[in-house]
Amino acid sequence: MIMMQFYSTNKTVPQQNFEEILFMGQAPDFGLYMPESIPKISKEILNKFNTMSYAEIATEICNLYLHKEIAKEDLLKISKDAYDFEVPLVKLELNHYIMRLDQGPTSAFKDFAARMMSRLMQHFLKKKSQKLTILVATSGDTGGAIADAYLGLDNIEVIILYPATEVSARQRKQMTTLGKNITAIALNGKFDDCQKLVKQAFGDADLTHLNLSSANSINFGRILPQIVYYFYAACKISPQEPCIISVPSGNFGNLMGGLIAKKMGLPVEKFVVAVNENDEYPQFLKNSKYQKVEPSKACLSSAMNVGHPSNLVRLVDLYGGHLDYQGELHALPNMDDIKNDMWSISVSDDQTIQTIKKTYDSLNYILEPHGAVAWYGLNEYLKEFPSKFPCISIETADPAKFPEEIEKILGIEIGMTENMKKQSNNQEYIQKMDNDYNSFKKMLLTR
Ligand SMILES: *Cc1c(COP(=O)(O)O)cnc(C)c1O
Repeated sequence: MIMMQFYSTNKTVPQQNFEEILFMGQAPDFGLYMPESIPKISKEILNKFNTMSYAEIATEICNLYLHKEIAKEDLLKISKDAYDFEVPLVKLELNHYIMRLDQGPTSAFKDFAARMMSRLMQHFLKKKSQKLTILVATSGDTGGAIADAYLGLDNIEVIILYPATEVSARQRKQMTTLGKNITAIALNGKFDDCQKLVKQAFGDADLTHLNLSSANSINFGRILPQIVYYFYAACKISPQEPCIISVPSGNFGNLMGGLIAKKMGLPVEKFVVAVNENDEYPQFLKNSKYQKVEPSKACLSSAMNVGHPSNLVRLVDLYGGHLDYQGELHALPNMDDIKNDMWSISVSDDQTIQTIKKTYDSLNYILEPHGAVAWYGLNEYLKEFPSKFPCISIETADPAKFPEEIEKILGIEIGMTENMKKQSNNQEYIQKMDNDYNSFKKMLLTR
């Protein structure tokens, strides 16, 4: 029985199976794990997706990677439990659709990855009867999605660090009102400081016995579930012809799911890679030189304020090149293939605001900043390369997550989702902490 093996993009450490890399996250040589080969989906299964539920499609896709490690009926149970919400495909105009990945419990697309990853971890932990502590640094959306996804799971403690003054009230409540196995720490510092403390804890030998694990977007366990919705949308909307898909991108985890879906055999005419003013990727496509944007620029689409996307390491590897964690390009990937598959654009805050206004005025539809970046990118692409193929633009958050911004742009009030209403009345549990590693370590050791 040979399980699928995963290699590090730096290729200096041994390959591992899925269970191992799920708990390791990043490889010990600081590379990211990739599957040794990408399984092809058969035409027969692909043709059936049209009539299958989201959870069933998720089971088929994940089974191609995990069939030697998890029984298919277990995968189906996990998928049904993780995806108990709708994935609306909204026709905005012509054959142009919005795929809404914002209907999960925390109203951001990170629910898709977090809910599956938490349940996969739980599945493996049960067999091993081990305990685990998940450490997350968050600038907003990730913390809420992880907290919700791991809430109440046995044998897993979750500790979330967020910058006290840099998250919105609605985001904060997603992390602080849950209690149980979820601890939220408000750090007197910035997001980068949170990340530094977490990183230091991972490297601290005194903490090994806590069995620390990360849940950030470098884990392949988060990429795998993000392959699924590309199949879902394309097969429901366009079972016969290829489509064009626009992805609002920050750390490029979402996009990686799409690129792998294409390699598995999903017909995609083009991916529009829409980024905000952090334009390192469109620049890279233009001049084949990679230069991170440092420090990253603060834009309205705040979850995409990334000047050096961590998953670019995977993307470059997928196209035969080698990029390291620090952003050094050791071998150029096949740029012709990359440009064949992708077209990329940087969208300014002003263009984002105009897009939100215009889409509301002319189509009576409320986009939030991340989805607006994607929709603008799609329309710019179509201006340059008119196409009759169906188009899908991804919306990654519910406008209710950004009430102040939307109100300022459209002059309308945005109500809360059902979950937000519940949380708004709940008590918050917050531990405050100074930006100091020793305090953090003491907390981890004495809790
Ligand atoms: C995380 C996030 C993104 C960016 O996704 P990546 O996978 O990091 O590219 C876009 N929109 C929202 C709302 C997010 O939370």
